[in-house]
Amino acid sequence: MPSLLGGGEMKTELMKIKDLKKYFPIKTGLFGKIVGYVKAVDHVTFHIGLGEVVSLVGESGSGKTTIAKCLLLLERPTYGQILFNGYDITQIRGKRLKDYRRNVQAVFQNPFLSLDPRMNVYDIVSEPVQYHMKLSKKELYEYTSRLLEMVGLDQSFQAKFPHELSGGQAQRVAIARAISLNPKLVVLDEPTSALDVSIQAQILNLLAELKEKMNFSYLLITHDLSIVRYISDRVIVIYLGKIMEEGPSEYIFSEPLHPYTQILLSSIPDPFTQEVREKTILRGEPPSPVNPPRACRFHTRCPYVMDICKEEDPAETDYRAEHKVFCWLYAKK
Ligand code: SF4
Repeated sequence: MPSLLGGGEMKTELMKIKDLKKYFPIKTGLFGKIVGYVKAVDHVTFHIGLGEVVSLVGESGSGKTTIAKCLLLLERPTYGQILFNGYDITQIRGKRLKDYRRNVQAVFQNPFLSLDPRMNVYDIVSEPVQYHMKLSKKELYEYTSRLLEMVGLDQSFQAKFPHELSGGQAQRVAIARAISLNPKLVVLDEPTSALDVSIQAQILNLLAELKEKMNFSYLLITHDLSIVRYISDRVIVIYLGKIMEEGPSEYIFSEPLHPYTQILLSSIPDPFTQEVREKTILRGEPPSPVNPPRACRFHTRCPYVMDICKEEDPAETDYRAEHKVFCWLYAKK
């Protein structure tokens, strides 16, 4: 089934992530001596096109949320560059940081944790608008009402508080606030995984509609490949902080190359058709990111492991245009 948003064509680059690393120090003792590092993200390079939907997928602990936090500057990278409109934002402060935050917004998994319980829906959505746009009271009311309408909430919701909303309604409020300043990029961190299955489809459709209207880019973070295919132009598969495979959505779903991608694809029923695929179970537990396996990080769990996989890291193989994989099975001789 094609992506709701279409895709496949090359998009102008909005963001370029170059050789990103995020290591968290492990400290011990009274003086906080550093005894090691959790290598949450290691040498990750990718880009997000203008108006493009890119999905980062992998198990929990794969590093995808840490990548999102680095892009949102909730974490500062240990190493590497994040170029936004060609400008490195990893060290920005002050006005530049404020401008960047206006352009890059986020919707998180649990809307109730991201909505202030003391504010009503109108105040939650209008607060960033008033801060950045300085509208008159009438203009602010009209602007906020329009935003709420766009996410499917009528006027009766304006005076409600978060505890009076269902999960789906609360996520609509979070989305209205995220798009309120007309951002260039919206990071969606597991935006449907805390919702009922029937509501998940509604929220996915809403996100697709809004993207069509406003043409911002999405970076979708999820462990669930079944929702990815409906919304993504491009998919990046992450395992233990490293990219395993990257390509246009239609290639990843029709011809997944990396053994890890193939196993992920055999998961969870489709939320739209409820079709259940034959599930392949990943053997063993994910290794610790403190001491990841050398060479191919997936070799301790891979059904096709060879001697070379334990000795050398597989280089990038360009399997076809825009579709690359890091696996010795596809290395060019
Ligand atoms: Fe499996 Fe080897 Fe490919 Fe790693 S490089 S995924 S161990 S076949």
